[in-house]
Amino acid sequence: MDASKLIADRMARVDSSGIRKVFDLAGTMPNPINLSIGEPDFEMPEPVKARAIQAIAGGHNRYTVTQGIEELRRQVLAVERDRTGIRHSAVLITSGVSGGLLLAFMALVNPGDEVIVPDPYFVMYKHLCRLLGGRPLYVDTYPDFQLTVERLEAAGAGRGKILLLNSPNNPTGQVIPDRELERIARWAQASGVFIITDEIYSAFAYDGPCASVARYSEDVLLLNGFSKSSAMTGWRLGYAIGPDRIIAEMTKLQQFSFVCAPSVAQQAALAALSVDVRPYIEAYGVKRDLTYEGLRHKFELPRPQGAFYAFVRAPNDDGDAFVQEAIKHGCLIIPGSVFSEKRSHFRLSFAAEDEAIRAGTQLLCSLA
Ligand code: PMP
Repeated sequence: MDASKLIADRMARVDSSGIRKVFDLAGTMPNPINLSIGEPDFEMPEPVKARAIQAIAGGHNRYTVTQGIEELRRQVLAVERDRTGIRHSAVLITSGVSGGLLLAFMALVNPGDEVIVPDPYFVMYKHLCRLLGGRPLYVDTYPDFQLTVERLEAAGAGRGKILLLNSPNNPTGQVIPDRELERIARWAQASGVFIITDEIYSAFAYDGPCASVARYSEDVLLLNGFSKSSAMTGWRLGYAIGPDRIIAEMTKLQQFSFVCAPSVAQQAALAALSVDVRPYIEAYGVKRDLTYEGLRHKFELPRPQGAFYAFVRAPNDDGDAFVQEAIKHGCLIIPGSVFSEKRSHFRLSFAAEDEAIRAGTQLLCSLA
């Protein structure tokens, strides 16, 4: 049988991530300076490991309830109420924020629906939207990558159904200021637009705490998780908090797909919630400075304020060509075209050893 004839039409709407291609290249290079990785370079904290080991030994190896264990749901709700002011009380523990995004898109996006995607964007948004037959409505945020009500209006975003917010942002490192979040929340409410806010980088904010749109509107689904803040990317744990009806639909889908988030990871997350991550964040603030200071004389880039990425304008506005050149010289970065409808930029991740950041930024400057 010709397997290619079996593939569902929807798969043609998704192309394989450009990030994978860079990872594959990385595997073939002897000692690359790797500034492409989207995960923290520190280890999962010891108390979290200990709790996971204890959980395995203690028999937490079976399915949990679909929505996630009660204790964890209670605790993440308390943490997020405190951090964001969110007023909803329905919580679903998900298999990473990725799991939360998939369930949310499945529950909310009909074929033909327009999903407002500020550009540059996290890759998954575009592909999930297209997979479900939705249409991305891009809002150009170049050159400073700040999403504003004016930019939403200019893009005609008022006709969209859902707005995706991601602050701190992957790939730009930008944070939406509190006052603008309030304006965006008001605009969305007036326009009948529902907001999905992906706050996975909320712990990684270097110039003061990062605000949440959930403080200003109830028409919000908040997604967050443990991958970045606790360096638990392999444990696949996140959560969604939002309107009862939406969380109920997502839970229904989880029952017939993921079944539950990993049981051991849910136990480990209970320990993760009481780890003080400030020392890690301080160290990442230093990496941010190294990156920005290392590049700004030769390149155009807004100073990253959060997450662990810089989004940088490439020579001749050709990010694809510059990334190829950088990789040839042993430095792995990602072409901006993976995260954007434009190809003028590249993404550098500073989730790396300080020495790698120094060597990498010097090399990139020498190529510019
Ligand atoms: N959202 C954003 C903006 C991300 O950068 C990532 C991970 N790169 C995710 C979601 C997915 O994270 P998780 O490991 O929780 O699935």
